[in-house]
Order: sequence, then structure tokens, then C-alpha cells
Amino acid sequence: MRVFDEDSLLIATHNAGKAKEIADLLGPYIPRFTTAGALGLPEPEETGDTFAENAVLKARAAALASGLPALADDSGLCVSALDGAPGIYSARWAGPGKDFAAAMAKIHCDMGDAADRSAAFVCALALCWPDGHAEVFEGRAEGQIVWPMRGGKGFGYDPFFVPDGHERTFAEMEPEEKHAISHRARAFAKLVSECLTRRT
Ligand code: IMP
Repeated sequence: MRVFDEDSLLIATHNAGKAKEIADLLGPYIPRFTTAGALGLPEPEETGDTFAENAVLKARAAALASGLPALADDSGLCVSALDGAPGIYSARWAGPGKDFAAAMAKIHCDMGDAADRSAAFVCALALCWPDGHAEVFEGRAEGQIVWPMRGGKGFGYDPFFVPDGHERTFAEMEPEEKHAISHRARAFAKLVSECLTRRT
């Protein structure tokens, strides 16, 4: 495991909200941040077969183009009864209009009366250096698909996912409650404990 001890990190995203969330989370460990959006870097095509491959592909493209170490994530929902779909295609299943209600209805319909309602949100984080070396950290949140959808908080597939050990969907939880148990939080906790050192 290579430890990160550089002074700046490139967050390989064009999504300003995601970049801010990541910079806030990693602020105590890394003095300076920039983003792929701010540097005008192109967005690589996500041609990998796994979350980890796609995260590495995005982080490596940004690190090689900028000469800075870069962090990228890739995430989605894997439904057991659908052999892990929509998986890496989670964003694409909602279409260009980002219609997640339609994507959830399709998943519900495709599951039919399958007895196994289990699913997992997965997040892969890739940290890549300009010499091409990459470290990957994966977090999972296991749970069950419920129908009908419930709750107005969160985003994406949150309204029909109840994490194990809970009764409310992610969309019925306060953000802090979801963030304490989410796939993303678990991947970041691994990154922090295995690769970063507190500086403030
Ligand atoms: P990306 O990793 O930003 O490309 O996101 C992939 C897709 O996975 C998103 O568009 C959402 O549909 C879905 N997704 C990832 N994390 C979550 C989550 O925490 N809640 C709901 N949907 C999520």
C-alpha cells in the first residue's frame, strides 16, 4: 500500500457538488485540492467491467493529464435477483433525463416475485499517482429492495433501498444518518485509515 503524502490532490470529477463533498471529507488530511472540472480535463469513457476498473480509469486519466495524484469514484446499485444489474450501468439505466423513478420501476418489474430481495450499493474509490500506480478502496452497503418507493431525501436509487438493520429507506433518513453507514462512507473510511495521515 503506497501512503499519500503529497500536498495536493486532484479530484477527478466534473460534478462540483461531489468535489466539494470530497474536499470537505479529506480536508484534515490533504492541504490543497483541485478538480478535473476546474482544469478543463476531458472526461474519459467508462469502459471498465467493474466499479474498480472504472474508478481507476478515471483517476489514472486525470493523473496522467495533470501530473498530480488524482482520486476518482464509481458507484452503483447491484440487485442480487438481477445478477448484479444495474451495477456499473446504474446511472445509464436512468437515461439522459436521469429518471430514477422509471429506473426503480423497471428494477421492481424485472425482479417480479423473486424471493431474494437483497441488493447492495457499492462504491469504489481509486487513488492514482502520475507514475500510474493506483490503490483502490471499496465500500458496500447491504440491504433490501422495497416497493413502493418511500422518502424524499437523498438521490438516485435511495427511495427503494432499506439498509440491513434498519426499517427506513435511505431516502427517509437524514443525510448524516445515511452518511454514517453508506457505501461511500465505508470506502472513504478505508482510504483514510489505510493511506492518509492527519495533518491538522
Ligand atoms: P457515479 O458513480 O457518480 O457515476 O454514480 C452512479 C449512479 O449510481 C448514480 O447515478 C446513482 O444512480 C447510483 N448511486 C450511487 N450511489 C448512490 C446512493 O448513495 N444513493 C442512490 N443512488 C446511488
